[in-house]
Amino acid sequence: MAPGVELGFAAAAAEGPGGAWRLRSACFPSKVGGRPAWLGEAGLPGPAALRCGRCQQPCAFLLQLYAPLPGRPDAFHRTLFVFACRSPACYRPAGPSGPFLFRNQLPRRNDTYSEEPPPEEPPPGPAPAPPRRLGSGAALCRVCGCLGPRSCGRCRRAAYCGPEHQALDWRRGHRRSCGQLAAGGGSAPIGDLWNTGSSTRVPACG
Ligand SMILES: [Zn+2]
Ligand SMILES: [Zn+2]
Ligand SMILES: [Zn+2]
Repeated sequence: MAPGVELGFAAAAAEGPGGAWRLRSACFPSKVGGRPAWLGEAGLPGPAALRCGRCQQPCAFLLQLYAPLPGRPDAFHRTLFVFACRSPACYRPAGPSGPFLFRNQLPRRNDTYSEEPPPEEPPPGPAPAPPRRLGSGAALCRVCGCLGPRSCGRCRRAAYCGPEHQALDWRRGHRRSCGQLAAGGGSAPIGDLWNTGSSTRVPACG
């Protein structure tokens, strides 16, 4: 192993409400799969920034690492988000369209999180569903959890990053739940674009 490299290993997150709360933004998770647990709201990548440079399809969220920088007040909280194209053809030959990374960081004193460490115990009550909107009101795509400026033309409530994920959600069930959403009901958003099952959590690694 090269000097200065630390490895983390993914471990399965506890199923159900007993573990899901640790994967929410307020717990500053490192995790593989699922939807990104965004750290801050400023500077999030838009749909155009998340398209593969080769096939122009939306890249999928792969993992995030909580990696604060000690001694850097502006990076007291710092999370790296890795996105990648799902098409194997886009990696042959290796080129500029490989997995790409977004960095999100905040000072200790910020408008979103307490200055104190997050609680070690789960909050009372059922685990909240993944957020459909940011605190600013900006909608998140029902499929991938990235910014979703496009909405379903029928119910006007389901948000998407682009036509690909709108079509995918329609096929996976929004076709049936669209009327319910318009009436105030609705189904849970889709989980994972990589079909990896439940989200997993990896130990922080430097
Ligand atoms: Zn691609
Ligand atoms: Zn999307
Ligand atoms: Zn709809």
